[in-house]
Amino acid sequence: MMQRPLLVSSLIRHADACHGDTEIVTRLTEGGLHRYTYRDSHRRARQLARVWQRLGVQAGDRVGTLAWNNHRHFEIYFATSGMGAICHTVNPRLFPEQVAYIIGHAEDAVVCFDLTFLKLVEAVAPKCPSVRHWVAMTDRAHLPASALPLLCSEDLLAAEGDGYEWPEFDELTAAALCYTSGTTGNPKGVLYSHRATLLHAYAINLPDVMGLSARDTVLPVVPMFHVNAWGIPYAAPQAGAKLVLPGPGLDGASLCELYCAEKVTITAGVPTIWLNTLAHLREKNLRLPLPHRTIIGGSAASAALIHALEGEQGIEVRHGWGMTETSPAGTINTFKAKHAGWPAERRDAVHCTQGRILPGIELRIVDEEGRELPRDGRAFGQLQARGHWVCGGYFRMPGEPQLADGWFNTGDVATLDEDGYMRIVDRTKDIIKSGGEWISSVELENVALGHPAVALAAVVGLPHPRWEERPLLVVVKRPGHDVTAEQMLDFLRAKVAKWWLPDAVVFADAIPLTATGKIYKTKLREIHAGFYMKAGGAG
Ligand code: ADP
Repeated sequence: MMQRPLLVSSLIRHADACHGDTEIVTRLTEGGLHRYTYRDSHRRARQLARVWQRLGVQAGDRVGTLAWNNHRHFEIYFATSGMGAICHTVNPRLFPEQVAYIIGHAEDAVVCFDLTFLKLVEAVAPKCPSVRHWVAMTDRAHLPASALPLLCSEDLLAAEGDGYEWPEFDELTAAALCYTSGTTGNPKGVLYSHRATLLHAYAINLPDVMGLSARDTVLPVVPMFHVNAWGIPYAAPQAGAKLVLPGPGLDGASLCELYCAEKVTITAGVPTIWLNTLAHLREKNLRLPLPHRTIIGGSAASAALIHALEGEQGIEVRHGWGMTETSPAGTINTFKAKHAGWPAERRDAVHCTQGRILPGIELRIVDEEGRELPRDGRAFGQLQARGHWVCGGYFRMPGEPQLADGWFNTGDVATLDEDGYMRIVDRTKDIIKSGGEWISSVELENVALGHPAVALAAVVGLPHPRWEERPLLVVVKRPGHDVTAEQMLDFLRAKVAKWWLPDAVVFADAIPLTATGKIYKTKLREIHAGFYMKAGGAG
């Protein structure tokens, strides 16, 4: 066989050659919709590669982005990786100090940003000496006044022709860089090779994974700065799917408008996004066009959310698990033929797990001594991964992560069954240790979310004078609904073991979320730290 390198540029070249008239639709940061095709996008990506050359970007240099999901960001992905430089997506929702740390650690040579983030850029620029150019992703008419010498992306592009040939190089070259959000310690960079990126794209396009096709319209709600929008910007041109990029409009109303207007068939995002969208659909009594398949991951999708999306809207839910270090797709939930004959309850138990292991990835669970535990769906232990798109080392952090016999420690606690279905019990740092036993905060949250008055629920383990830790349940009520702490506990009592029952329920207007939209448990534990100590261990 021929040996051709697996390169990111081949994806956009393929989309141009075979899906040249397929659309990419963007909700612009400046307002309004922008439409063009994969062919247009490929042309502009080649022009942008020339812009990078003119600005002195070399192979291996980092080009940072602080940007929403839009066509300009998409072009930066391909221009940068395609020319052999590294596309470094920075999460603009992080604190400015973290943004400055990440840009500094990566030594980004150029940073491109959406207008929304001008203030952030102005705040961090003095702390980012490596950045030679700040590029505003907009046209001359919208270029804001700033004390910084900003470049205007559309002006830069207009000055270049598209006579650019993508270079060929080793497929192990780095294509992209993403930092974990670092809720504990400093963020760590994961460097994705071209090879890993391509193999991951092939894998997520399998029918039992995301399964994008040339008949689909896909809208990644998950941001392009959150593990490369889970690989969709690569998988969509590979499959020839129409791409809809929602820009800054991530509220329920803006998303539903695009789902309907563009007849979106596949979406992907974290559970909190769907909670907001569902609230909007219920309030307006709306039905989304079908078919609609949604990939939910990043944190646990509760049974209540899965049932609501399927029951009320007819949306097919595929629950998946992954992390920055696994590119991110590790497991995804679809049934096997044999499940058709199973009783509803047993089927449902399978359906609500994080899903089956993707080919290309291996998972195992081990005990504290590193001994492998049985795949019986019950034993739980430290989840470890290895595979074509699993991180073997962090960027500029020699010796990290420490692999266990070549396996990456995910920091999650999980079960596996004989069919490869994985169920997340908790994160190692969130699991609650009470009187020598373990309590899963994730499972308690799932049950609490089944109560009709609950909009959002979080469970954290707090120091307790007698039991080491005890669970506290924090609840945000649905508008127009009421429930007391006692009613909440009664609801849980019927569904969980007695000693799992939270010792208290606290009602809040909101629950703090991380920069990637997950429950910010470290913060919650800080807020309520002394709760059981002060109460003298009540309960
Ligand atoms: P962080 O959340 O630290 O910013 P990641 O986005 O890489 O970084 O998150 C990875 C973690 O998210 C996983 O290790 C796991 O704990 C959690 N996670 C991802 N998907 C799921 C899921 N479907 N169910 C439960 N937890 C999940």
